[in-house]
Amino acid sequence: MTEMVMVIEDEKEIRDLLQYNLERAGWKVATFADGEKGLDQIFASRPDAVILDLMLPGKNGLEILREVRGEPATADLPVLVLTARGAEMDKLLGFEHGADDYLTKPFSPREVVARVRALLRRAKPQAGSAAIERGGLRIDFDAREVSVSGRKLTLTPREFDLLAFLARHPGRVVSRDELLRKVWGYDYLGETRTVDVHVRRLRMKLGVEPSFIETVTGAGYKFTTPQG
Ligand code: CA
Repeated sequence: MTEMVMVIEDEKEIRDLLQYNLERAGWKVATFADGEKGLDQIFASRPDAVILDLMLPGKNGLEILREVRGEPATADLPVLVLTARGAEMDKLLGFEHGADDYLTKPFSPREVVARVRALLRRAKPQAGSAAIERGGLRIDFDAREVSVSGRKLTLTPREFDLLAFLARHPGRVVSRDELLRKVWGYDYLGETRTVDVHVRRLRMKLGVEPSFIETVTGAGYKFTTPQG
């Protein structure tokens, strides 16, 4: 099935440029100029990826991002944020609110297409599978069971969710803030140390070297296995 990319951007020229190029790349495209309407349509029509401008009428991009991430159904939706030229602050805020990637205006259409393709690829392969098996670790997402070399582990629901989230995004560095948002829920007011405590316990239970959860200093955690 053709994937659908949604564009929320109030500048008509950019919107048209994006639509033209994304359609040429083979995707279905829906465009919105207003933030409020765009957000409604994210929930209503469930696109496969969103290109989101930050400065929008109705509702700004950061508010949209926050609501999208706070909703379990769209928490993992790939979002590429568009920022104004040289607006470092926009980028930082975008990442903090859960943007997967960003592009600074002006950008080349080819670059946008490449970024969207990467986001869709990253989102797809693991997302739909019911189980993964890597380096002796087996995670059954439906049964919520984990085993290492055939030995079944007893995990708390939170530990399972944490491991499952990381394993569904292999190779990607996930920040403690993002883990708090997506595993604990957006409104959870815990400290990022909570994440460290759970990771430590999870590693002990996994009990193998190398551990599947790698610490990336100053950035967060990453799921890795011997086979990649
Ligand atoms: Ca704008």
